Amino acid sequence: TIILGIETSCDETAAAVIQGGSTILSSIISSQMESHKRFGGVVPEIASRHHVEQITLIVEEAMEKAEVTFEDIDAVAVTEGPGLVGALLVGVNAAKAIAFAHDLPVIGVHHIAGHIYANHLVKPLEFPLMTLVVSGGHTELIYMKEHGQYELIGETRDDAVGEAYDKVARTIGLPYPGGPRVDKLAQTGEADIDFPRAWLEEDSFDFSFSGLKSAVINTLHNARQKDTEIAPEVIAASFQEAVSDVLVTKTMRAVKKYGADRLLLAGGVAANSGLRGALQEAADREGIQLTIPPLSLCTDNAAMIACAGHFLYEKGQFADDRLNGVPGLALESF
Ligand code: ATP
Ligand code: MG
Ligand code: FE
Repeated sequence: TIILGIETSCDETAAAVIQGGSTILSSIISSQMESHKRFGGVVPEIASRHHVEQITLIVEEAMEKAEVTFEDIDAVAVTEGPGLVGALLVGVNAAKAIAFAHDLPVIGVHHIAGHIYANHLVKPLEFPLMTLVVSGGHTELIYMKEHGQYELIGETRDDAVGEAYDKVARTIGLPYPGGPRVDKLAQTGEADIDFPRAWLEEDSFDFSFSGLKSAVINTLHNARQKDTEIAPEVIAASFQEAVSDVLVTKTMRAVKKYGADRLLLAGGVAANSGLRGALQEAADREGIQLTIPPLSLCTDNAAMIACAGHFLYEKGQFADDRLNGVPGLALESF
């Protein structure tokens, strides 16, 4: 089975071709980062326009690189949501147009299912498994007993981890998107500041990062007011340690409670060196098998969408021509 995947939920225009559910024949990503940088974040109208300009070229490039024609393709999988509605619509309409022109089925894919299935491209998923999803808009613990079945056991009550990273970066004075830059800075500093950890109720698998974010911002403001200097790398390292401390502790507790055999890390913040290292260490200590996608599959891409789409293809879960971009799409039915 060969699936063409399309992803346009945010600020990456991406297309990929995968074979047999896990072999990547091509994966092309066009990032709009430079266009959004001067606004300090993603501007929806600019994102949509870029997608419109890029989508046909990116799909063509993915097909060429994979050395396939539309005759070879079995289905088109596209991100249906969640994301920016105008951005999603570009991908959805491109997928529908291709499907109509070449008489192919369309598969609507949930973006977070895609992030989770990025792990399948590394090593076939085995169940039951626990996934820690950490991205720009999501921080969730998801338990899976089989393909396409998602049980949300915890989520953030305020900021997503990626969002907290980007805000902390801005306060330090780093350009958008700040996550990777805070990560880099953190690697050069000591975690000397004991920022607060939000553990919440004893049995809760929920998260909260707004308190930590505010503590970082206040620490920086207070230092500036007193004209004292706190090294930004110390702030970054201390913030990073507080984040991964909570994420790793809660994740390992969830793995134990649910008796999961496998642990996955998913989403853009899975690229974070501190989190990767700390989670790997904890998993090794507990004898839990951990999969973390390579950096290129952590942030938004279409290979992960094609991969999740592959399993929907096998289930026969196809979209009809009413398929639309759904900004707040729920994960349960994917
Ligand atoms: P969602 O997937 O929730 O819809 P999104 O698609 O915008 O949101 P992703 O592309 O999955 O998010 O991830 C982007 C986020 O990951 C950004 O907030 C970015 O700062 C963060 N990020 C990327 N690399 C790193 C890193 N090395 N350390 C920390 N954060 C990172
Ligand atoms: Mg992005
Ligand atoms: Fe994403």
